[in-house]
Amino acid sequence: MPVYFLGEDEKGCNRIKIGVAKNIAARRRKLQTANSEELRLLGWIETDDAFQVERLLHQKFDARHVRGEWFDIEPADILPILKRKGRHGFVAKNADAFQIVGYDRDAIPEYLGVWEWGDLEIDECCPFCGCLCGMHFQDASQMYHCLNCDTLTDFSELDARADEPDD
Ligand SMILES: [Zn+2]
Repeated sequence: MPVYFLGEDEKGCNRIKIGVAKNIAARRRKLQTANSEELRLLGWIETDDAFQVERLLHQKFDARHVRGEWFDIEPADILPILKRKGRHGFVAKNADAFQIVGYDRDAIPEYLGVWEWGDLEIDECCPFCGCLCGMHFQDASQMYHCLNCDTLTDFSELDARADEPDD
């Protein structure tokens, strides 16, 4: 069962709830009805020991406890935890990680990125599923592979997209 991290979006998610739910989307909707601020899913951990992991995290952030399962912490505080879980850690990815948000001075496209609250490289985090196993370069295929969602790509589709004129 996953351990989830839900943030109150106002003020940039500096209150985060750490909880356990079989269905995170359903839990978020339920919590949302009782909260005036928009709740955003930041990430989650897949684990067989959900309640144990949750308990340890509640202890870890005990000094910054607000109420219930809410803590006065930021996305930057939970990212190292998710990273340590490797293949079992996930960030809630942007709808389109490859949306072009601008071009640098060499006309290289800059993408929105996987996670709204921090920059993650593809070797750290899969842009397709948000898994912190990252994508690994396969010599045999000369492509990048994600162990979690099994995406295999050389990002050539992306190059084609970046070459399309904007208007
Ligand atoms: Zn993936």
